[in-house]
Amino acid sequence: MAQATLTPHGEKVETFRLLSGHLIPAVGLGTWKSETPRESVCNALVQAGYRHVDTAAQYGVQKEVGAGIKEAIHAGIDRKTLFVTSKLWCTELSPERVRPALLNTLGELQLDYLDLYLIHWPFRLRDGATRPPKAGDVLDFDMEGVWKEMEKLVKENLVRDIGVCNFTMKKLNKLLSFAEIKPSVCQMEMHPGWRNDKMLEACKKNGIHVTAYSPLGSQDQGRDLIHDPMVERVAMKLNKSPGQVLVRWAIQRGTSTIPKSNHHERIRENIHVFEWEIPERDFQALCTISDQKRVLDGEELFVNKTDGPFRSTADVWDHED
Ligand code: NDP
Repeated sequence: MAQATLTPHGEKVETFRLLSGHLIPAVGLGTWKSETPRESVCNALVQAGYRHVDTAAQYGVQKEVGAGIKEAIHAGIDRKTLFVTSKLWCTELSPERVRPALLNTLGELQLDYLDLYLIHWPFRLRDGATRPPKAGDVLDFDMEGVWKEMEKLVKENLVRDIGVCNFTMKKLNKLLSFAEIKPSVCQMEMHPGWRNDKMLEACKKNGIHVTAYSPLGSQDQGRDLIHDPMVERVAMKLNKSPGQVLVRWAIQRGTSTIPKSNHHERIRENIHVFEWEIPERDFQALCTISDQKRVLDGEELFVNKTDGPFRSTADVWDHED
């Protein structure tokens, strides 16, 4: 269960404890496709009481995110109270590339350590890989070699925790078979339209915390959960917004979550989820939304129907869905 702490502004913000003993704030700001990363990050930290920011080298916004964090620190936010996550992109998934990639990320963010460094996707791509990948774009991934390099980053205090994204149970079991430092966090797509109960259970069983990404159903070609009738009904009943109901649903499942918005009023709204709960009956009703389907299925990034090695999204997800 999430534990409550107070932000410097006196707002009650819950946190979850990781295997390492460190705390992860239950709500963070997502930055993928952020059009206003510097302002959004700074406002989220200084005015809305966020202490957790999620970014990635691949998002192309790390410099602006770093500038936003720097501004917030100048405004009086203590770095030690922040939880900053970034991710190792697929082209860097070979042992000799891990450390330089992390140092580049720290440089862009203007930080001397990360709170959490994640493997972004468990597939190695050739430099210059296209979408969809051509033959030879998806390379062999030395998971053990890469993880050992991630572990070294923890030992050197360059990152406090390490973890993974977009893993299957098969890949998680493989990682756990050799990990000296277990992954603290598994970041996965999760929302009422894609609960992914099996993976959540597998992580819980191993003490691995889950961060739910795309909690609102993502953007552009995503799933419109904001206007889902069940979500709207619960929001109306509780006098909350659909966005708040979706964020609260994630927290009540025991996951932290990282909604993204370009709009300050929505950023504020999305973290005001700690002074109330979704009643059990409504929570369970949200767990019955049919048409369970991933938004981010990896097809565009990794599937090559003729040349493989992944010929379908089922291959990408190890036929576990
Ligand atoms: P989200 O589920 O957070 O949805 C973002 C969309 O919802 C945007 O269009 C946003 O619009 C809109 N929105 C935000 N708040 C509200 C609100 N209160 N009411 C109505 N609409 C709202 O999508 P993401 O896919 O961005 O996921 C969140 C974060 O998760 C990412 O930004 C990224 O940090 C992380 N992520 C990680 C992945 C991984 O592989 N590890 C993959 C995908 C995401 P607007 O901006 O206009 O407000």
